Amino acid sequence: PPLPWCCRSVRSWRAAGGRLGPLSLPLSRRAPLSAPLPAAPPARLRSGQAEAAGGDGAMLRHLARKLRASGPVTVAEYMREALTNPGQGYYTRRGGVGESGDFITSPEISQVFGELIGIWYISEWMAMGKPSTFQLVELGPGRGTLTEDILRVFKQLTSVLSKCDVSVHLVEVSPKLSEIQAVMLTGGKVQPNPEDESAYMKGISKTGIPIFWYRDIQDVPPGYSFYLAHEFFDALPIHKFQRTEKGWREVLVDIDPEVPDQLRFVLSPSRTPATQNFIQPEETRDHVEVCPEAGVIVQRLASRIEKDGGAALVADYGHDGTKTDTFRGFRNHKLHDVLSAPGTADLTADVDFSYLRKMAQGKTATLGPIKQREFLKNMGIDLRLQVLLQNSGDTATREQLLRSYDMLMNPEKMGDCFNFFALLPHHRLVHPDKKDKPESKSPLPPVAGFNELLLK
Ligand code: SAH
Repeated sequence: PPLPWCCRSVRSWRAAGGRLGPLSLPLSRRAPLSAPLPAAPPARLRSGQAEAAGGDGAMLRHLARKLRASGPVTVAEYMREALTNPGQGYYTRRGGVGESGDFITSPEISQVFGELIGIWYISEWMAMGKPSTFQLVELGPGRGTLTEDILRVFKQLTSVLSKCDVSVHLVEVSPKLSEIQAVMLTGGKVQPNPEDESAYMKGISKTGIPIFWYRDIQDVPPGYSFYLAHEFFDALPIHKFQRTEKGWREVLVDIDPEVPDQLRFVLSPSRTPATQNFIQPEETRDHVEVCPEAGVIVQRLASRIEKDGGAALVADYGHDGTKTDTFRGFRNHKLHDVLSAPGTADLTADVDFSYLRKMAQGKTATLGPIKQREFLKNMGIDLRLQVLLQNSGDTATREQLLRSYDMLMNPEKMGDCFNFFALLPHHRLVHPDKKDKPESKSPLPPVAGFNELLLK
């Protein structure tokens, strides 16, 4: 079947400055991995001609050398190299979010998206007793658009946040994207490698808030924090497993000995450490994708929230432990063969929210996944749209507002396949003394987005 609208192949109305560009539909879905895969050769691979590839073939040459030296690699290792290799990785060099890039995301489609997320954080900050300071920590901020929209809301609600000390902390591996973020958020006035900081760059937002950049969540200082991960977890490396007559085997990437310069999938000849660690005995699917790095990051977020307070909001396309082969590539808003020209295309896989929930290990409560259209509706997107429509003078702007609303909300576009998921301290959902004195306190305010927003 053709891919649904929710994939990264839609063009941005926002980036088009209000003009409605054509929508490019993906051509066809990559063939699923249902056909039997060859077994990986036990010994070293023979030399291919990948070395001869030029220009964008640098990553392929690098991988071919590696594969020849030490045999096939896991899909996770391939994905990590292709996306974040410090010299040639896709995000390192291109990082193509946006109209002129390879894929488009909700914050790039409409400012309303980021505004409602900004309101979510303020609503949770109020529900948690208005702590005197908080860090907004975004993982994989892309062009910085989402943070920009959130900071605009914080600015508009200065009277509410006035006594609160807010700072922004961006976790970004791509030097290229961090530069774009710096221009977007600070006008480019940043200080690289500040002394006495774990950050690799710092600056001040146009609205006067300090911003810091890190490569890893572990470098972000501890403290009361609101975390945000929008289309971040889907970019992290996955392992792929196939059920065979001989049991579970891991899908690996190697060089095709028949076709020069071409990579192919093979199956591990026996079980790998990953098949042992990541496949549950009760698994019923025949093909499974697992993202251990996502698990590690969620564990870290949950530990930090348990210790220092705050909340995490994760938004991504994904499923609850039901889907099988979702690994795909995007280049220039079209589907792209994941094994072709690595480093030149975005690679992504659906997020398994059931796995994230498990990896929170009960340190925090979890909410969701809830569909994007329900979350945004609960956050008051209809009201916001009405206000913007009333305030916009011309027909073209009104049409643009309605179309971007449709893109975010329509179940056949982004409304159904994008999900929101949250980590919250247990005491946010259940009174700590509820067991002893069930009637002693007024009920806790519901968590916005996951319930209807109560505007007081
Ligand atoms: N959140 C943005 C961008 C999504 S693209 C949006 O929705 O528009 C994925 C982002 O994650 C990019 O900024 C990419 O450079 C970053 N990224 C990918 N892998 C990463 C990693 N391991 N650590 C930190 N950032 C990473």
